[in-house]
Amino acid sequence: MNKAKLLLGPGPSNANQRVLDAMSAPLIGHLDPEFLEVMAAIKEMLQRTFQTRNHLTFAVSAPGSAGMETCLVNLLDPGDEALICVHGVFGNRMSDIVERCGAKLIRVDAPWGEPVDPLQVKDALEKCNPKLVAIVHAETSTGVLQPLEEISKMVHEAGSLLVVDAVTSFCGTTLKIDDWGIDAVYSGSQKCLSAPPGLSPVSFSERAVEVVHNRKSKVQSWFLDLSLVSNYWQGAKRAYHHTAPVSSMFALKEALTLVVEEGLENRYARHWQAHELLKSGMESLGFELLVKQGFRLPMLNAIKLPDHIDDAAVRKQLLDDYGIEIGAGLGDFAGKVWRIGLMGENARPESVDRLLTAIKEIS
Ligand code: PLP
Repeated sequence: MNKAKLLLGPGPSNANQRVLDAMSAPLIGHLDPEFLEVMAAIKEMLQRTFQTRNHLTFAVSAPGSAGMETCLVNLLDPGDEALICVHGVFGNRMSDIVERCGAKLIRVDAPWGEPVDPLQVKDALEKCNPKLVAIVHAETSTGVLQPLEEISKMVHEAGSLLVVDAVTSFCGTTLKIDDWGIDAVYSGSQKCLSAPPGLSPVSFSERAVEVVHNRKSKVQSWFLDLSLVSNYWQGAKRAYHHTAPVSSMFALKEALTLVVEEGLENRYARHWQAHELLKSGMESLGFELLVKQGFRLPMLNAIKLPDHIDDAAVRKQLLDDYGIEIGAGLGDFAGKVWRIGLMGENARPESVDRLLTAIKEIS
């Protein structure tokens, strides 16, 4: 058995013991009535935590990237236009999927480390007629929190659907699917939910479901086709679609139960408090945050690396000697930033203190 490490990178985060225990419960069949009750409980708690009444709300049996593909491959027919807002790695990934769908990609790019300006979206919407606009709420590669409400209004005035990547924001900062007019959203189990990786909560508005029903062509992916998989998650007569990852679903149910017990507002506040502690601690050690005030994520902190710090050596020492994982910079930010995650179970003063003490000793 490997020794428990403190996971302060971009995910996975550490899971609560109750979640680990749930995962080791005896297996049951994936169409056993008892398992169908587990699925119903997951669906109900996902609706509560996404703050939505959307009927089509469930967990895709695959990681966040599969949630991303589920949204895009179901909503786009070949030839459709899709406007993708890109301010880091995950907007790029969405753009790639759009092209693989045979749809016409239109991009709005913001510099890495900054949010997309709503005016950029407004300008783009004047020149095209996209079926959907997609944007990342919490860009894990840069630590930017993207405001969504103004963009949502513009998208709907243009008659398009809004697709949001909430892989990192879900259960860590405010996210209101219905109030913010989000038509399709996907997340991941391994970040602020603190469940094991490998499941992707998703939710679709009635408008989005209507678009899926009116598709001109078959969805290119059998596994992710909502018209097939939704019969497994809803309806009186559940039909076999795939063999669900039973143990991971037990864990997801327990992780959601913990969120509901804590309360969303308390959980968000706990993430912000941990972020503030980390920020002041790192600043007192001479480090600077990359993202400007007002657009910082609480659960993923991008820290600029001064020249005298040997990025790889310090991260290795943290992992080997202190059992603490932090994230390296991705893409344009490789070698330039650290990405310190304070997600779910780890958004606590004890985690921040442990990390600050270790960094002080090393550097
Ligand atoms: N979107 C964002 C914002 C992410 O941070 C990630 C993973 O880090 C993904 C999508 C992809 O999720 P996964 O790695 O679970 O496939």
